[in-house]
Amino acid sequence: LPSKLPDVGTTIFTVMSQLANESKAINLSQGFPGFDCDPYLVDLVTRFMKEGKNQYAPMTGIPELREILSEKTKSLYQVDYNSESEVTIVSGATDALFSAVSAVVQPGDEVILLEPAYDSYAPAVKLSGGVAVFVPLNIPEFSVDWDRVKDAITEKTRVIMVNNPHNPSGYVWTKQDLDTLAGLVRDKNIFIISDEVYEHIIFDGRKHLSLMCHPVLKERTFICGSFGKTFHVTGWKIGYCLAPKPLSIEFRKVHQFVTFSTATPLQFALAEYLKDERKYLDLPGFYQKKRDLFCSGLSETDFKFTPSQGSFFQLVSYKHLSSISDYELSVKMCKEVGVACIPISVFFNQKEDHKILRFCFAKSDSELLEALDKLNSSN
Ligand code: PMP
Ligand code: GLN
Repeated sequence: LPSKLPDVGTTIFTVMSQLANESKAINLSQGFPGFDCDPYLVDLVTRFMKEGKNQYAPMTGIPELREILSEKTKSLYQVDYNSESEVTIVSGATDALFSAVSAVVQPGDEVILLEPAYDSYAPAVKLSGGVAVFVPLNIPEFSVDWDRVKDAITEKTRVIMVNNPHNPSGYVWTKQDLDTLAGLVRDKNIFIISDEVYEHIIFDGRKHLSLMCHPVLKERTFICGSFGKTFHVTGWKIGYCLAPKPLSIEFRKVHQFVTFSTATPLQFALAEYLKDERKYLDLPGFYQKKRDLFCSGLSETDFKFTPSQGSFFQLVSYKHLSSISDYELSVKMCKEVGVACIPISVFFNQKEDHKILRFCFAKSDSELLEALDKLNSSN
């Protein structure tokens, strides 16, 4: 069968989680919380199911959820999105990203991806007939090399995809990053797809600067978010897309034929849950404790690292220790040490090996301590 994605295998998250299960390793690979969500959220879903909220939701999402999301955005970022025409509820950020790419990328269009890039971006571009143009981030900081982005822009550039806070590095955008991007696209017919699924997981007093905060960026940007990350419910696959009306119109044309709509009782539950802003405002403190616990244990190992600025991932470098490939080391550590992680070469088009591993610290403290113990005794 002629493959539309000949270079794509099974995603690393499936591969590593499976290997972790088989090896009975502690799974710090695939990014999902190792603890349950708030029981109140489960009660809400159950309540709405019992109340009969079990049929198709409106294609764009239930009004209650769109409205509270619009209010939240206004109070957090002082930016308006019309809940009727500019907020769309989707089945996970993956749906938002795919639908946004499909909505604007025409065959032959170029899409700039900053790599390492989350693994769903390039296949989405390819399936739309677009050409992914890869621009490397500055390693080891993982900041954006704006000169290279500028050089990569051509007449054919239709989209720049960005991810802030960044998976896998945790890099958090500065005001200067926003201003520079705005300067580059100001007079051009370029859209931005901004993956902000870790907007509430951000450390050391940093403030998330959503791309919507810059007016030049807002008018051309699809903001893609996920409730899975924020409320410890990655298995629910529910997220949203915020975009100005003309962009949302095109976005919805695609979304309606990708999933049509998103699980109804989950939407009612989240609309109710979002009324208490502490549920997301407490998140930086909650995850910073975990990051600090994990980093303090890591400092007892021979790995080199800089504490993550955001997301629930911590990178470590072992370049000074071994020449083994990051992929082989991940497999070996999973099987022999009992700790699973992600080799970040998988986020590079050419599988460039910087000898860096990604660990997910969204786990119970006891699981993190056990993993650190294993890593320490394997040194
Ligand atoms: N973007 C990034 C950067 C992610 O890390 C993830 C998932 N972990 C997603 C998108 C997908 O989010 P969802 O599960 O809501 O589809
Ligand atoms: N985004 C998660 C990660 O980076 C994984 C999501 C998935 O498994 N598709 O680990």
